[in-house]
Amino acid sequence: MEMPENIFEKIDGGGELSIGETAFLLGMQEKSGMEILFRKAYAVKLKNVGNKVYLRGLIELSNICEKNCYYCGIRKSNTLNKRYMMTEEEILKAAIWAYENKYGSIVLQSGERTDETFINFIENIIKNIKKASGGKLGITLCLGEQTEETYRKWFEAGAHRYLLRIETSNRELYGKLHPADHSFDKRLKCLELIKKTGYQIGTGVMTGLPFQTFENLAEDILFFKKMDIDMIGMGPYIPHKDTPLGVRALHENFDKKYALELGLKMIAVTRIVLKDVNIAATTALQALNDKGREMGLMAGANVIMPNITDTKYRAAYQLYQDKPCLDENASLCRECIKKRIEETGESIGYDEWGDSPHFRSRRNDKN
Ligand code: SAH
Ligand code: SF4
Repeated sequence: MEMPENIFEKIDGGGELSIGETAFLLGMQEKSGMEILFRKAYAVKLKNVGNKVYLRGLIELSNICEKNCYYCGIRKSNTLNKRYMMTEEEILKAAIWAYENKYGSIVLQSGERTDETFINFIENIIKNIKKASGGKLGITLCLGEQTEETYRKWFEAGAHRYLLRIETSNRELYGKLHPADHSFDKRLKCLELIKKTGYQIGTGVMTGLPFQTFENLAEDILFFKKMDIDMIGMGPYIPHKDTPLGVRALHENFDKKYALELGLKMIAVTRIVLKDVNIAATTALQALNDKGREMGLMAGANVIMPNITDTKYRAAYQLYQDKPCLDENASLCRECIKKRIEETGESIGYDEWGDSPHFRSRRNDKN
């Protein structure tokens, strides 16, 4: 495709990109074009959110899941997985470690469960983490689709952010990636409920999915904008051999370099369009390249989620293959991440929640 006229000048002037122009940027393959794009996105990031990187300690508390997403390594039907659930004590210990190491906030993530026992377990954990940190440690939840009542219960217990990726904003593509009983409308509805409850809201998509077009991704960015999203967590789709979609993608020769570049371009264009949101450089980038997350920071991301899950559980929580740092404990990870971020020239926002300016202005609008 030919370069639309003056596309980079349009970015500099803050002009609105069309779907065609956005798709063009995402599809660019020339190194020189990508480098310009990343530089422009980095400038937009500096201007709108600064060069501070916020850390969210990621606790993968259980790989038990009721769902069967075709892409995910911990899907219910993957019988090869040994299932685990961390104890309350273990989760609390990890959270306190994050607090003492000045991470500012944590993310509780797991497979999806909607039973009473689980709901109460999480409510209790949130309360205890809040108590143990004198209310200071921020808590983000990434626990899938729940009822309005459950979202409210967890919010009232003290969680203040919720991440639920839409995975793709294209209904048809969503249908190809999930069994028939996984509803796109329900996921959409959940995002609305999360927002209504009062959480800072995060969503995102996987990039490089089978069947996905650059136009689909351009529409995803528009979707983030329309939904008035505060935080974005996106990452490259990485095949897992024990999943229906993974078998297919691996057969078609999954290209790591291509997947990484597409993931980075998506971060960059999202930063250029949304400007003042928080964007995570996710671990999936690091799975494709040792420096993937640092590259994400240079392409416009400003959040990193270091894994603080006990190493004994990590191998069993593989959403995709070749997950990095399976044997690196939280302390090693802390040093490693500090060094990596410092090498990029960015600074670390220790002991800060690091809310996005977008959330702050959304809240002020309401008052
Ligand atoms: N069960 C919750 C949270 C855990 S899954 C939920 O689904 O919302 C967290 C994210 O992992 C998903 O949103 C999905 O985008 C991502 N994921 C799953 N399988 C993946 C794969 N093979 N490659 C990359 N990301 C994947
Ligand atoms: Fe379960 Fe989330 Fe994986 Fe889907 S993506 S199978 S809901 S853990």
